[in-house]
Amino acid sequence: MNAATPAPRREESAEQRWNRFSVLKTGDDYLASLRNRGTRLFLFGELIDEPADHPIIKPSINALRASYDLAIDDPELATAWSPLIDAQVNRFLHIVESPGDLVMKNKMQRRMGQITGTCFQRCTGLDTISVLHSVTYEIDEKHGTNYHQRYLDFLKEAQRKNILIAAGMTDPKGDRSKRPSEQADPDMFMRVTRRTDKGIYVKGVKAHMTGGWNQHWICVLPTMNLSEADKDYAVVGMIPGDAEGITYIYGRQSCDTRAMEPGDIDQGNAQYGGQEVLVYFDDVFIPNEHVFMDGQYQFAQELVTRFTAYHRASYVCKTGLGDVLVGAAASIVEYNGLEKVSHLRDKLVEMTHLNETIYSSGIASSHEAKKMPSGIFMNDTMLANVCKHNVTRFPYEISRLAQDIAGGIMVTMPSEQDLDNEEAGDIIRRFLKGRDDIPTEDRMRILRLIENMTLGRNAVGYLTESMHGAGSPQAQRIQILRGMDVETKKWHARKLAGIKQVS
Ligand code: SF4
Repeated sequence: MNAATPAPRREESAEQRWNRFSVLKTGDDYLASLRNRGTRLFLFGELIDEPADHPIIKPSINALRASYDLAIDDPELATAWSPLIDAQVNRFLHIVESPGDLVMKNKMQRRMGQITGTCFQRCTGLDTISVLHSVTYEIDEKHGTNYHQRYLDFLKEAQRKNILIAAGMTDPKGDRSKRPSEQADPDMFMRVTRRTDKGIYVKGVKAHMTGGWNQHWICVLPTMNLSEADKDYAVVGMIPGDAEGITYIYGRQSCDTRAMEPGDIDQGNAQYGGQEVLVYFDDVFIPNEHVFMDGQYQFAQELVTRFTAYHRASYVCKTGLGDVLVGAAASIVEYNGLEKVSHLRDKLVEMTHLNETIYSSGIASSHEAKKMPSGIFMNDTMLANVCKHNVTRFPYEISRLAQDIAGGIMVTMPSEQDLDNEEAGDIIRRFLKGRDDIPTEDRMRILRLIENMTLGRNAVGYLTESMHGAGSPQAQRIQILRGMDVETKKWHARKLAGIKQVS
């Protein structure tokens, strides 16, 4: 076949794409749905035959799987009634009908963080479907398009099949001083390369895609405000993760190869991990039914702002991880026989205070949600930005305190394989013991968990993702500046100070 001739599957219709998915109910169904997809995924310079079975990838799949398990174990928390299909659906696919829905979402996110101790990757999809509800509605109002109905049709099918959606938002950006249409490489931002009567073709890369390979569909979205010259870059569409033309390159994480070693102690959290991938779209087709924006550049900025309002409050997820870290630090205090030492108790109080401060701003943002013209509710923007800004700082301090409490042994401890060696193991068991009634191995496990969350694989989710996910700290400061209404504050101050000309 000539390289320019599209392969038959490349131009599948929307219906053909949906027909490849069956209804997923359990974690096992989800796991089965990831196999035999024929995706192209590179890891350590090699194409991986079956990524679902790779030891480095598996923990990230387990984290998403937990979202299916929780819906069965605690339906009140992790499911909701969808008026769209008149059925109970996973809360990660539910549109926000009230501030209470956002509060429940936050509670579910904290619980998921406690269960997995990592980024469980499903919230970007939830926040994407939330923002598209209002944005497609408003584009239609202004331009007479029919994106909102397409979006609703997609969402109904997504709810029925209980599938996962990843958000592909971050473009590589190239020369940051230039707009998308000014870049030397026209694909530095995702763009529409071709339009036919059946759909569009997109080309470009989406970077840092959370859980990108683990999910069934990818929603590509613009990453920043766009001008008329950038019209071809104003594109939103849903693409199945196994569509032709997609190449995944797996993002490696600190200490990730420990998953290839025997045993599970040195991994710290052997069950769960996060996932970020670099995803290249090489003229990937999107049928018209799955295109929710094409050229309406005026809405790009608003789309990004609303997405971040939802997602920055979603970062209460990190309080679930904070709960785990406080628990780990308290455990090591106990295992060392130091639970009565007041400065250690005070450090645990400080960690808890910081963690709850994050939670309070996120949950307040949900309670203060406002109704949008489309009927959906959106988080209070100021409080969502405060929540995320807290998240760029407090997990670092919580981690510092956990490391302070854990002591240097956390990073000087021998490996599990030494523990398993007859001669070395005897020495380790005898001298790395804390309290007599606590097995040395348990003490080592807790220390490795603290290492995992503050330096190792899940520090990616707990620290660096907290810093840069959903926008780096300065992005929140810009939003806080926009919403701080300093003029009203000055008016109050001047009035109370008895200044005559209060304007
Ligand atoms: Fe969800 Fe938190 Fe991961 Fe974002 S960082 S996808 S909010 S778990």
